[in-house]
Amino acid sequence: MECKGCKLHETRTQIVMPRGSRNPQVVFIGEAPGENEDIQGKPFVGRAGKLLDEWITYLGLNENDYAITNVVWCRPPKNRYPEQDEISACQKNVLTYFLDVKPSFVVPLGKLATEFMLDTRIRSMTSHAGEILVIDKFFKLCPLFHPAYFLRNHGDWKPMLENLKKELKK
Ligand code: URA
Repeated sequence: MECKGCKLHETRTQIVMPRGSRNPQVVFIGEAPGENEDIQGKPFVGRAGKLLDEWITYLGLNENDYAITNVVWCRPPKNRYPEQDEISACQKNVLTYFLDVKPSFVVPLGKLATEFMLDTRIRSMTSHAGEILVIDKFFKLCPLFHPAYFLRNHGDWKPMLENLKKELKK
């Protein structure tokens, strides 16, 4: 894929395309690639990715069941927040991807991805994390705190995953 839709193409090493199943039940969507992702060309391959892998195992998902992507597909310089014009420019990539793989669940990781999926600003993740939201007839949404949040505060992430775990078994 080639894309020069925003200024991030000037500084990226490569576009970080979604990874995982082509027919996923669940798509996890993070913020933007970091340094490791930019080098390897795959989302969530660094420290946050290792924790996300643990969550995926805990949820009982197999390789064929899930995929992982980001709101923005190119690394912002020095890992700064993606800017609105970059998010808007990448939106067509993300929407085309969702229409292609048609997941039953979308799991936004962190505030930026949750706001992107809800198309609205939220005050904090605390009131949303782990809730199952039925957005439309196409998929359900389950926002989670970003794995980096738990790397910082060493909290117990299992309670946050219980609703989703139950829902996935239905
Ligand atoms: N954090 C993200 O939000 N996305 C990645 O791909 C890696 C870390």
